[in-house]
Amino acid sequence: MLLLSSLLLAAEPDWALAGPETVQNLAAYLQVDTTNPPGNELRGAQFLADLLAKEGIPSQIDEFAPGRANLIARLPGSGQEKPLCLISHTDVVTAEPAFWEPGKGPLSGTIADGFVYGRGALDMKGMGMLEAMVLIQLKRQAVPLRRDVILLAVADEEVNSLGMQRVVDTMWDQIGCSHSVNEGGLGIQDLMFEGQTAWAISAAEKGVLWAKIIASGEPGHGSTPRPGQAPERLHAAIEALGKYKAKPNISVELYEFLRRVGVDRGGILKSLLASPGMVRSLLTGRLMGSPPTRAAITDTLNVTGYGGAHEPNVVPSEVWANLDCRLQPGTTPAQMLARLQDLTKDVPGIRFEVLSEKEANRSPWEDPFFDALAEAMTEGKPGQVAGPVLSVGFTDSLFLRPLGVHAYGIVPFSVTQEEMKGMHGHAERVSVENVENGLRKLYRAVLKVSG
Ligand SMILES: [Zn+2]
Repeated sequence: MLLLSSLLLAAEPDWALAGPETVQNLAAYLQVDTTNPPGNELRGAQFLADLLAKEGIPSQIDEFAPGRANLIARLPGSGQEKPLCLISHTDVVTAEPAFWEPGKGPLSGTIADGFVYGRGALDMKGMGMLEAMVLIQLKRQAVPLRRDVILLAVADEEVNSLGMQRVVDTMWDQIGCSHSVNEGGLGIQDLMFEGQTAWAISAAEKGVLWAKIIASGEPGHGSTPRPGQAPERLHAAIEALGKYKAKPNISVELYEFLRRVGVDRGGILKSLLASPGMVRSLLTGRLMGSPPTRAAITDTLNVTGYGGAHEPNVVPSEVWANLDCRLQPGTTPAQMLARLQDLTKDVPGIRFEVLSEKEANRSPWEDPFFDALAEAMTEGKPGQVAGPVLSVGFTDSLFLRPLGVHAYGIVPFSVTQEEMKGMHGHAERVSVENVENGLRKLYRAVLKVSG
């Protein structure tokens, strides 16, 4: 017994050293410019490769286009179980430096007032650095592994997912993981109840149909309105699309998440939130009333932009609008397209051009790695709850589930709603405390299923 506990202790890194080291490494990683477009993710891959090389961990850089590269590194295990993959993307979205506080800009990596500032702190160089440091800690502790632990840092998640597409198309035989963790969820403070931090672990992601709706008609001179012009037809078609009524459909993930929230709160909430019937009758109206939760329980249709106009005095023969539809599991892109066609069938001169389509997919939450993540996030503390959710956006995990991977999304940071605004916004930052705690949480979850 004594021997066993000292062995377990031996596997535990010195957090007082590992935490600050990780913060410093993250600050340096945030200074590496991988803004996408254009990406230049080779720089990010090289940065991580150098960090790992210092610890004697080899890695492979796959430059699939000039300056665009993925990185794969592996700690070999006994092969008793299929590999576990720690996934991040090395690219970050663009920023408007003028709106960031001087000295705390998007490429600064400045550490001040208990935070690390920079584009990617939350999305998602922060987690990418934690994953690299988990690999390094496992190596330093010489933990015997029952499976390979693979670090996969991919390019271009923010624009076209070219990096993950490349992995799936050309390198999957080298990876073949059964489980993965990636972005997709966060711990959000006071999400549903004051004082409760809800760790929303993404176990499912909505699918997508991106399409152009194109109206054509007679071109001509703007001075003379005529029936059957393209702009008028587009207007009529958009109005017809406005009649789209989304039916609420609470996902199995959300029922389970709410059940767990109830268990943490106790009392009457525990039994209310454990009953899908009660949740449906009491909460559907509320969930439909707020845009983020409405998106979580419906297929959505969003007109996101218009194009095709020339000069004010020219009637073009074609104008179009962009449509972003997000689909719950059970709705295919083809079904959504059929709905759009049906809604606009009475408007002449309308056609659709599909730009991108992906079906929703999900992983089970009854899974040892899901349990390990949930346990590591909450650390068994009251006021901390972790459960599965269906993400309204998609990540690279969407590519992996069709390959049989149990893919989960959780960035192990507990953030305020104010901090969350930094993702794709201004003043993106992560607290030093979150980096240090997040490293410990992720390490423990990985160790639990691999050590
Ligand atoms: Zn991201």
